[in-house]
Amino acid sequence: MKLLEDAIIKRGKILEGNVLKVDGFINHLIDVSLICKLGKEFHRLFKDSGITKILTIEASGIGIACITAQYFNVPVLFAKKSKSSNISNDVYTTQVASFTHKTVNNVVVSKEYLSSGDRILIIDDFLAEGNALIGLIDLAKQAGAEVVGCGIVIEKAFQPGGDKVRSMGYRVESLARIANMQDGKITMCD
Ligand code: 5GP
Repeated sequence: MKLLEDAIIKRGKILEGNVLKVDGFINHLIDVSLICKLGKEFHRLFKDSGITKILTIEASGIGIACITAQYFNVPVLFAKKSKSSNISNDVYTTQVASFTHKTVNNVVVSKEYLSSGDRILIIDDFLAEGNALIGLIDLAKQAGAEVVGCGIVIEKAFQPGGDKVRSMGYRVESLARIANMQDGKITMCD
């Protein structure tokens, strides 16, 4: 998506360890008008998939998921990072390694809010190693829900997550795909 790619190239900052900082329009200050356009695009891509719920992970996926959900007229369920290792029976749980914080979190959703009748669109801001997506897919699977697709704002295509999740058979649509971030320069895939 050209508008998003231009914003990333103009306003994104490359940090150590292949981290792209987009705090000026997505992850801290939020450009709501831009996110609405991303939400509309996700809707165009997935409108015929019979989605009943959008699933994301806290914290940075929530804003994007909520704006996107308005176009689908479905609720958003966000997986919570749980500090407690004392997990109750009322939740589905999985473990997700954080790319940016280098920690492993227990991630939970209440069993009450995810069920076998659900057709799930997973939304997240970034796709890097694929751990967040694979964790969310695992939660949906535990509930017997069907993941009909994954909508990603920024895929770092030089990292293995996209290939991993696509090879598991899931539809992954990324609105911007970065081919590389070298020598301070961001290059998009064709
Ligand atoms: P993965 O689990 O695919 O390795 O990474 C995806 C998650 O890590 C996303 O939920 C996102 O919050 C975070 N993430 C991964 N790469 C980046 C990045 O380059 N910049 C930012 N801001 N977050 C990232």
